Amino acid sequence: MATIGLRGVRKVFPGGSIALDQVDLDVADGELMVLVGPSGCGKSTLLRIIAGLEEPTAGTLYLDDEDATDFTPQQRQVAMVFQSFALYPHMTAADNIGFPLRVSGLPPEERHELVVESATALGVQELLERWPKQMSGGQRQRIAMGRALVRDPRILLLDEPLSNLDSGLRSELRAEISSTVRSSGITTVYVTHDQTEALTLADRIAVMRGGSIEDIGTPGRVYDKPATIFVAAFLGTPRINLFEAWVWNTVDSHVSLRIGEQTIALPWQDPRARQLAHYHGERVIVGVRAEALVSLAEPLPDCTIRGRVRYLEHHGHESLAFVDIGAAGIEIDLAPPPATKPKHFRHRPVTTMRGVWKRITGTQPAE
Ligand code: ATP
Repeated sequence: MATIGLRGVRKVFPGGSIALDQVDLDVADGELMVLVGPSGCGKSTLLRIIAGLEEPTAGTLYLDDEDATDFTPQQRQVAMVFQSFALYPHMTAADNIGFPLRVSGLPPEERHELVVESATALGVQELLERWPKQMSGGQRQRIAMGRALVRDPRILLLDEPLSNLDSGLRSELRAEISSTVRSSGITTVYVTHDQTEALTLADRIAVMRGGSIEDIGTPGRVYDKPATIFVAAFLGTPRINLFEAWVWNTVDSHVSLRIGEQTIALPWQDPRARQLAHYHGERVIVGVRAEALVSLAEPLPDCTIRGRVRYLEHHGHESLAFVDIGAAGIEIDLAPPPATKPKHFRHRPVTTMRGVWKRITGTQPAE
């Protein structure tokens, strides 16, 4: 059992830089929590506070419900893996993995047994006699993982562990980390600025911005129902389409949404129509994912938007269309790629349309 709790954590560095501001976070036993956000949002500082490498200016850290704010790193029984691999260059892979066991005074035979066990679990038993400079980046990172896990820590902290690897190796190691962490059942906090990594790895994602957690939830929830426009825009490739619209003409059967010169009608059965009706007569920001739009040869009434394809980007199994709809430019995922340039776009059946709606002003729409 290993849980993490942060309450009101604040970190101000000398010079006044506020790295964290009133952060509350709970990580459940065995959970893989990913902290994601743009550079400088405070992810590493939060991780280092959990590790005991940084002291919070205010707030409390709980490990298994015990106040661990003043615990030394050793007392916390936390292992950390860094982006830079950080292997000792003058030690073989076996000695690197076994280093924490040597420090804790374990006899050589027992050490050897645990090193081989850990290396076998990570598929690097063939590399044990190699020096770090004789290994690839991916192999070195597996050894670093072995060194972190060999002591059977209660918490694993990973700080951008894949950033120094090329993209093919990154997805391979991502899958390995996921299966290693899940089969060991170890409570893990993983820091990355890569939203794809966050979405594919996490049990839950905490999206950070400017020293605070802006949204936290399962990957599906934060992707489909982001708490804020920042979160909507940060997650997902291609970026979510965001454009301004007026909510007007709320009648019994539908709610009309005016986008520039065009109008779409959301039927009343769509739960978002009822949500939008609260903003009757106001301007909102609409967010629609590129894959939630389909192209049509001919326009259909109601939910069709007309647009001009500026250009198509081919990605093999799909194409991305950059479309001018008058009031805005939007991106649309076309799978399979179309034979001719489409002109009309409709959102998919309402249950799969992903959007975020937010009030921005209270002005009346222009007729
Ligand atoms: P990155 O993805 O670039 O590593 P991050 O989200 O991990 O960024 P942090 O490294 O936690 O962000 O930094 C958060 C803020 O605190 C930044 O503004 C950074 O400049 C500042 N900061 C971090 N460490 C120190 C330090 N030792 N002294 C002063 N300011 C610091």
